Amino acid sequence: MDLSYTAEEEKFREELRGWLRAHIPEEWTRPGFWASLPSAESFEMRREWERDKALAGFAGIQWPTEYGGRGGTPGMKAIYDEETVRARAPQTVNPLGLTFLAPTVMAIGTDAQRKEIIGPMLRNEVIWCQGFSEPGAGSDLAALSCKGVRDGDDFVVNGQKVWTTNAVHGDKIFTLVRTEPGAERHRGISMLLIDMHQPGVEARPLKQISGASEFGEVFFTDARVPASECLGELGDGWRTAMLLLSFERGASGIAQYTEFRRQYDEIASVARALGRDRDPVVRGKLAGVLTELECLRYHAMHVLTQVEQGRDLGFEASMTKLQWSETFQDLWEVFDDVLGPDATLREPVPGLDLTAMHAQAMWSRSVTIWGGSSQVQRNIVAERVLGLPR
Ligand SMILES: Cc1cc2nc3c(=O)[nH]c(=O)nc-3n(C[C@H](O)[C@H](O)[C@H](O)COP(=O)(O)OP(=O)(O)OC[C@H]3O[C@@H](n4cnc5c(N)ncnc54)[C@H](O)[C@@H]3O)c2cc1C
Repeated sequence: MDLSYTAEEEKFREELRGWLRAHIPEEWTRPGFWASLPSAESFEMRREWERDKALAGFAGIQWPTEYGGRGGTPGMKAIYDEETVRARAPQTVNPLGLTFLAPTVMAIGTDAQRKEIIGPMLRNEVIWCQGFSEPGAGSDLAALSCKGVRDGDDFVVNGQKVWTTNAVHGDKIFTLVRTEPGAERHRGISMLLIDMHQPGVEARPLKQISGASEFGEVFFTDARVPASECLGELGDGWRTAMLLLSFERGASGIAQYTEFRRQYDEIASVARALGRDRDPVVRGKLAGVLTELECLRYHAMHVLTQVEQGRDLGFEASMTKLQWSETFQDLWEVFDDVLGPDATLREPVPGLDLTAMHAQAMWSRSVTIWGGSSQVQRNIVAERVLGLPR
């Protein structure tokens, strides 16, 4: 494991730090600032800020320069993750596009798709949604039933997607659609790139426990999409989807560690403010989760070293997802232990506003569901990494 960065990488860190310092107003970094804004306003502010960041050369850090990326190293990407979290930079508004779609388009898209999709995505001119999950298809994604029927040069799409992140802000949606009736479960599926601004597409927000509507439902009623707007081969969408999902596997966990470690300090401050830091049980729980966090850090550095050495992590990446998501949940369960009987209060003592922290605690419940639930990840580790029988 290599815990150091090169001189060139450290130079990049300084440049990025300088840009972030100059472009993040102090009030943006106050806890609860973003949650205090109407969601459409906060989305637009973040959209613009992220576009300016891309224009300044701080986006697509590891992507080839020919696609508008910076052509950087995995170490630079890790530094980018660390520094943006440290500076409390606004979170991306285009996570599905940047994490999943762009690398897939670079790998198997046509030249026209590379040109049309990647640049506008980096500049946030097009916000992308992921249309995979349906009411009857989640972990068992191959149960999907959304249908596309060929009509001339187009497909006419009918069906429903659910849990669609950014549904109400989306411009386009990469969607798994059954285009060959009667084909076997994993066949006859195509990944169609559907324009969401048309009469046959309706996005409805879903309200979460936190009050936010980060995801929603998307209904297709005779929505039209040209057959040429297919990523990968027509009918081969399952393979395209598996490639697309594999890109999450390059993530090392550095960004998560940096963010969770800061959140740990905030939880410890609340414990001090409430005098709960003198409770030996609370102290033990804080120490336990801090130990987990440090394990996550070393795991993240180990993964980063592997990626830098060009190793394909494959299914071992499920261990990273398991480790960061469960550490995150443990961290926010300690928050409840710290609050004890005050766990439901927004302001347990005058001046201590915990609204933003409660929102994080609630968000933490979701991370062992999306991106492959913990149970599914454990199945993957057991069968594909450890070679245990099914
Ligand atoms: C915040 C959030 C954002 C999301 N964003 C998107 C998005 O943008 N686009 C999108 O397409 N989807 C999105 N999803 C959906 C997500 O991918 C699914 O929720 C996930 O795949 C699980 O599917 P499900 O909810 O239908 O649960 P199910 O698959 O029904 O699972 C229910 C329970 O059964 C367990 N289970 C299922 N199968 C097995 C098995 N074989 N072995 C052991 N246990 C099993 C699961 O672990 C879970 O505990 C999002 C979800 C969340 C929470």
